[in-house]
Amino acid sequence: MRAIRRFTVRPVLPDGLAALGELAANLRWSWHAPTQELFAAVDPERWDAVGHDPVRLLGEVSPQRWAELAADEQFAARLAQLRADLTSYLTGERWYQRAAAADPEGTWPRSVAYFSPEFGITAVLPQYSGGLGILAGDHLKAASDLGVPILGVGLFYRHGYFKQSLSRDAWQLESYPVLDPDGLPLSLLREPSGEATTISIRLPEAELHAHVWVASVGRVPLLLLDTDLEENPEHYRMVTDRLYGGNTEHRLRQELLLGVGGVRALRAYSRITGAPEPEVFHTNEGHAGFLGVERIRELVDAGDTDVATALEAGRASTVFTTHTPVPAGIDRFPRHLVEQHLSVAVPGVPVEQVLALGAEDYEGGDPGVFNMAVMGFRLAQRANGVSQLHGHVSRGMFNGLWPAFDEAEVPITSITNGVHAPTWVAPELSALAAAQGGDPDDDDHASFWAALAQAPAQEVWRTKRLLRERLVADARRRLRESWDKRGAAPAELGWIAEALDPDVLTIGFARRVPSYKRLTLMLRDPARLKALLLDPARPVQLVVAGKAHPADEGGKRLIQELVRFADAEDVRHRIVFLPDYDISLALPLYPGCDVWLNNPLRPYEACGTSGMKAALNGGLNLSILDGWWDEWYEPEFGWPIPSAESPALAGDPDRRDDLEAAALYDLIETEIAPRFYDTDADGVPGRWVEMLRHTWAALGPKVLATRMVRDYVAQLYAPAAGNARALAATGRGAAELADWKARVRAGWSGVRVEHVEPHGVGDAAEVGSEIEVHAYVALGDLSPADVEVQLVHGRVDAEDALVAPSVTPLTLVESYDGNRHRFDGTVALARSGPFGYTVRVLPTHPLLVAPAELGVVAFA
Ligand SMILES: *Cc1c(COP(=O)(O)O)cnc(C)c1O
Repeated sequence: MRAIRRFTVRPVLPDGLAALGELAANLRWSWHAPTQELFAAVDPERWDAVGHDPVRLLGEVSPQRWAELAADEQFAARLAQLRADLTSYLTGERWYQRAAAADPEGTWPRSVAYFSPEFGITAVLPQYSGGLGILAGDHLKAASDLGVPILGVGLFYRHGYFKQSLSRDAWQLESYPVLDPDGLPLSLLREPSGEATTISIRLPEAELHAHVWVASVGRVPLLLLDTDLEENPEHYRMVTDRLYGGNTEHRLRQELLLGVGGVRALRAYSRITGAPEPEVFHTNEGHAGFLGVERIRELVDAGDTDVATALEAGRASTVFTTHTPVPAGIDRFPRHLVEQHLSVAVPGVPVEQVLALGAEDYEGGDPGVFNMAVMGFRLAQRANGVSQLHGHVSRGMFNGLWPAFDEAEVPITSITNGVHAPTWVAPELSALAAAQGGDPDDDDHASFWAALAQAPAQEVWRTKRLLRERLVADARRRLRESWDKRGAAPAELGWIAEALDPDVLTIGFARRVPSYKRLTLMLRDPARLKALLLDPARPVQLVVAGKAHPADEGGKRLIQELVRFADAEDVRHRIVFLPDYDISLALPLYPGCDVWLNNPLRPYEACGTSGMKAALNGGLNLSILDGWWDEWYEPEFGWPIPSAESPALAGDPDRRDDLEAAALYDLIETEIAPRFYDTDADGVPGRWVEMLRHTWAALGPKVLATRMVRDYVAQLYAPAAGNARALAATGRGAAELADWKARVRAGWSGVRVEHVEPHGVGDAAEVGSEIEVHAYVALGDLSPADVEVQLVHGRVDAEDALVAPSVTPLTLVESYDGNRHRFDGTVALARSGPFGYTVRVLPTHPLLVAPAELGVVAFA
């Protein structure tokens, strides 16, 4: 029988233990080991049985056990202490408060809104599919640790992302268990009257309504919109059914809800709680981009603001982060569908102007398409990629939006991702760091990494073995469960008790399975892989996990290929595929591995973060030089797999895979395994442990999400808030900037470099000499204050193209009739060899971020 309705009855905790409910209601427990230990102590067996879910645990404790705990003074003391610790964490001054007070400019925002289609915070709240969501979760957690006043905005998916299992013949199966928000650490946003707050958006057929769930991520509120309400038509109730499911129209509705509905939810939250209105809006990937359109609508509807002015106000305070160099990873909607929806959803903004924001009106663009990333760049004054290499690739990929500029000047910067150490570092390693003087209560655990690097080699190695052992136990449990579902009889499964070995060199590989990540590269030469796994003296074992998108048949075939290999009797004790890669699998996986393998097709991995988590847990990376590894690789941190991405192999992906796989096997055979097994009399591999120490000391502090969030604050949030305040200060700032831009664009055809005169050296230039340049420039309807005239100079190649040139601004020295002017400047010739220069004119305004922002330039 199926129930027609379901709900969850919340437990009533005994007097004196009510604080357990408070600890369970704030997700800080998910990265606070002492709180987890307290929950485990409530009922250790049940804690494991409920998958370390405090809310479920509290609902299932027996009355006798409650009675015992209520009488346990020691337990009461621990509970009181942890509750006090949470209060002080939530209310105390942290890095942000101290640093903001010390900032002379004082532009640190009072509040930042962070929009993302997914958030991976804990396995208990499965609202993520992979890296993007985990990053968003780590961003909020690190912001909380640092005291950054941020709010998250996302959707509450009734089925989250799918759970993966395998059929007998190794085909991926998907299931979508339903989540009941009443059984999760969420509370409903309510009006002062007690009624649930409702957010509404007009759509072509009917109004779409949503409730707002609030999760407390430490100090950070996370608002999640949910459309599963009785007042919605049936198909609208399904808008938030699944993450990345459904057809194009379904996705457009989800993104409208996230962007437009998200801003409305924030407004309601501030109105009800008195929280400050966000000064900066950060969109994590293009999916939430409609937030910028909604903010334009708000300003236009409030009166006497036109769209151009509202756009300037909105842009100044918006940050857009792009996450993928894979064109298929970018959301593009049919233009007519966007037109149909936006004309009703944000009626104050003329729909042609919305359509123009997402138009691919550049060379090679598709006129029938609305591109969310393109809109993201146009609605945000500040944009970034997620590693240096990805910044470079993104500038090239989106150069078409700024065609007059070289790639290096495309206004997309980069901030490299990081990971939240308290979530990802095994408690045993944190304890080891603390024993060496690392301070676990520090805002960003800054002292941990140097402390770990000081730990005695034997201690490090003993801990690593423990972590390997724990992974082996978890893997065996998961294998048994998986084979159970695959229909194996218990008698067939005796081998699982011997699967994997806590003393064997363990290599991990876990990620989503799009083709560029090349799950099966390791199978390129099966005989060679087998030889590595079964080497009698220096064996290797592999733990593999990953989900293919439900619609990706190719990805499922790769999983099948891998699982079939791993199923073979001769190797199954040395290579395992663990289904359902998620946070709960990831947590013991990273610490249990000695080597973390990543072999994407360069440069498609925008950043990658799993290798960072491995590094913090005493793992060495073995990876193609892509994403973060390209930026921070050092020989002491692991091994680069040489990438065979030469143009000569561009049409021959098979050959490229052959070469890269061969390099991978060689590295394992000749360098990695010999070093791992080169142990001293105590069984400790000295050289290996040295590498772990270097990794902790030198790489540890870089890969932290706290470093990343501080970079966002200093490089993007505070400057964005500064610009937004400058625009708001006079009440006319945004209108003036919009007028100025319109005037500059209209007058730009009159801007010309008429004549350039070199002075000083002639053909006899030598190192140390100077050249002086006089540039005569006509400005038409513009004035000298509207422009900067620059001398662009440096090395030239055989075609006279300037290579990574320098820029020297020229100064106005004389004006003539007809709005003509002379600008002068000098450069010293610092280097021998071919040298060249040119002169260009760019618009300039104190509130522009980059010279390329308007896209216009005039050259000599
Ligand atoms: C860290 C993590 C990811 C992202 O890892 P990448 O290296 O970016 O692929 C995906 N899923 C889970 C469960 C993770 O913990």
